[in-house]
Amino acid sequence: MNTCLMCRRWEEDVDLRIVALPYSYVVLNRDQFFPGYVLLFSREHVTELFHLEPEVRHALMDEVALVAQALASVYRPAKMNYELLGNMVPHLHWHLVPRFSDDPLWPRPIWSEPHDERSLSEAEATAAIAKIRHALAAAGLNLDPSI
Ligand SMILES: [Zn+2]
Repeated sequence: MNTCLMCRRWEEDVDLRIVALPYSYVVLNRDQFFPGYVLLFSREHVTELFHLEPEVRHALMDEVALVAQALASVYRPAKMNYELLGNMVPHLHWHLVPRFSDDPLWPRPIWSEPHDERSLSEAEATAAIAKIRHALAAAGLNLDPSI
């Protein structure tokens, strides 16, 4: 069994799936303390951006930008945050987080203080995912309806 949490995430977070892109998977983060918090992770298990071939890396960055743009159009944040760390889970992934000037940790990073987790109901999660998918389709992405 693969011990990498991110390699297993697409299979394990079926209820949180947003879209499978050519070079990445996108899921809604289970904790929605920050509304619209999404994880985008490389399909390939690599730890560093420079481990990817340039064409793949460029296409992956386009996917990051596309998803961030869709989140911005749905949530209208003051600023999108793009966190690429991998200290705890060393599989290339971004935390894409819409941030608002009235959020409790603004303007600090989302990890600057602990917070209670906020899980959405199934209906709320489904609605959030549908809105993000709609924005991705509006941005010109051809979505697989089976996900
Ligand atoms: Zn992995």
